[in-house]
Amino acid sequence: MATRTVAYLGLGAIGRPMAARLAHAAGITLAVWNRTADRADAFGREHGARVARTPADAARGAEVVITCFPVSPDVESILEGENGLLGTMAPGTALVDCTSGDPASSRRIAARLAERNIGFLDAPVSGGTSGAEQGTLTVMVGGNAALLERVKPVLEAFGKKIVHCGDVGAGDALKAVNNALLAVNVWSTAEGLAALAKAGVRADVALDVINASSGRSNASMNLFPERVLTRAFPRTFRVALLDKDVGIAAGVAREQKVPSPLIQLTAELFRMAHMELGEEADHVEVAKIVERWAGQEIA
Ligand code: NDP
Repeated sequence: MATRTVAYLGLGAIGRPMAARLAHAAGITLAVWNRTADRADAFGREHGARVARTPADAARGAEVVITCFPVSPDVESILEGENGLLGTMAPGTALVDCTSGDPASSRRIAARLAERNIGFLDAPVSGGTSGAEQGTLTVMVGGNAALLERVKPVLEAFGKKIVHCGDVGAGDALKAVNNALLAVNVWSTAEGLAALAKAGVRADVALDVINASSGRSNASMNLFPERVLTRAFPRTFRVALLDKDVGIAAGVAREQKVPSPLIQLTAELFRMAHMELGEEADHVEVAKIVERWAGQEIA
């Protein structure tokens, strides 16, 4: 494979390990940019990528530019102006946005880039920070299928399952619904285990049975055993971001006029939990709110 020049912008919890996979992939020359420059400098020292001072500098000469920020408006905010991506991205190149974004913003970004003959794919990921480290993420892609085929070898540095979902915005919509299901499972598993604990059933016993039965989920099989029962609550995916995702899913359902009381309620619960737990708390820490309301620790 000929060497391809890639720029990666946004070295956060998931962005950092994704960019690290690219830095060590054969046939890829990487430039990185991060809003807080220290983090980019540290990444450059550790992984040997070129550290850019502005988005425009990162995108100079890049065939593929990848962004991974909290929300789509963050991506929009680095397009224009003398430091913006549009200053240096050449016609025929592509922006692949791995932010778990919202479909309307992605359509707007795609239209703006199309004016310069620059391609756009919304390409949110799932699989968590450990999936990013191992290069086993699922990538759900909206946009032109031929463009996806062109950039796929780059995405394969961090993605194992790469799926074309539909037009621009389809990846965002699917990611939001997936995370709404994650949120429902985390919250309802916490409620169920708190009730069982009060009724005298130990959480490890309950999970052993549930995980051999039809109520199991990623929450019951992985998140609760590893994070709640151990009381470790590691911070890998902020509740602020899951709040954002369920909000996007609730918006998609409303826009499509699909009655969705469960998703709307879950959006409200996570909005409250985000306010209560703050910006840095992990999503699984919502179990602590359920415990507080129940007056009962799960484990
Ligand atoms: P973090 O909050 O850990 O990192 C956010 C990154 O975006 C940081 O590099 C931050 O820079 C940068 N950033 C924030 N605001 C701006 C802005 N206005 N302009 C430019 N850069 C900005 O988030 P994650 O890495 O966890 O998540 C990124 C995206 O990936 C989100 O959409 C999230 O929903 C999604 N995601 C996350 C997963 C996870 O397990 N963490 C799993 C799957 C998807 P700085 O260093 O300056 O703060």
